[in-house]
Amino acid sequence: MIIQLEKDITDSQLSNLKNKLESIDYKINAVSTQNSEYIIGVGKKEFDIRSIGTMEGIRDIHRVSDAYKLVSRKWKVNETQVNLGDNVKIGNGAFEIMAGPCSIESESQIEQTIAHLVENGVKIMRGGVYKPRSSPYSFRGLGIDGLKVWHKHAKANGIKIITEVMMVEQIDDMLEYVDVFQVGARNSQNFNLLDALGKVDKPILLKRGISGTLDELLQAAEYIFSNGNEKIMLCERGIRSYETAYRNTLDINAIPILKEKTHLPVVIDPSHGIGVRRFVESVALAGVMAGADGVIFEVHETPEKAFSDGQQTLNFRQSKKLYDRLRKTFAFRKEIGV
Ligand code: PEP
Ligand code: MN
Repeated sequence: MIIQLEKDITDSQLSNLKNKLESIDYKINAVSTQNSEYIIGVGKKEFDIRSIGTMEGIRDIHRVSDAYKLVSRKWKVNETQVNLGDNVKIGNGAFEIMAGPCSIESESQIEQTIAHLVENGVKIMRGGVYKPRSSPYSFRGLGIDGLKVWHKHAKANGIKIITEVMMVEQIDDMLEYVDVFQVGARNSQNFNLLDALGKVDKPILLKRGISGTLDELLQAAEYIFSNGNEKIMLCERGIRSYETAYRNTLDINAIPILKEKTHLPVVIDPSHGIGVRRFVESVALAGVMAGADGVIFEVHETPEKAFSDGQQTLNFRQSKKLYDRLRKTFAFRKEIGV
């Protein structure tokens, strides 16, 4: 169960509530976020919800039977909108595109990409400075120095930064240069990292694990929320299946199902989702029709020369066409009301 507390709940009202929950054998978890104070009660006993709901100091009470609670739509019917500031919003009817290279490679690349994004009205640039790579001999990113250079140009041009954080120890150094922390597929169940990102007041894009179920994704998001950060977006980026004709199996089904199970925004990553440049556009558009609140994809000035993931990366001309089609598709989805 989720109990939302009144802001001015007194100590004695709180201890009455705790005593009541203990008397029905419910385990108590106190959660304090940017928006609210909650008590999460976990237990099995049947009880009369009104006997708690009418207690002093309680704003609202909800039964949530899912393993994840705070990210469930069962208690929060309205969709969450994640606000990046400067009128950049994702979810609850607001749609955004995030584009940029797989890896941040050089200052010149940063400048060219930002100019391309500004020209096309894209407000969020993606790119990795810490890259999870299958081989230790592959390019692993420019690190914090690259992020600082990127931030300087992004800020000067009104562009927001989304980039992957791989370790708890990186968070503090990255904090002032990042608008959205990305948790990559390989770290989707790194519970220490999720705990730490719950203590940060910055939006998080949480990717689905390579073989992660939707339930695991939602429980991973619950780690972040229950540590205090409500600003979470989920990302479907394809799962590993038996199929070898493409890199991953983009699970379009995940989008409507997640949108039913959670109030959090859902973003689609068609680049990693299919891993083949010429098909990125069609699966991106399919993702938008299926209900995605945002799209994140890879673009590079010369994809053939990209340090990572060039095979799934669009050039500027191809991405320009895609921005336009994504916006049209989103408008069409709204028009027909799906
Ligand atoms: C990426 O966004 O470049 C990336 C490494 O993504 P994922 O974690 O989904 O593989
Ligand atoms: Mn990539």
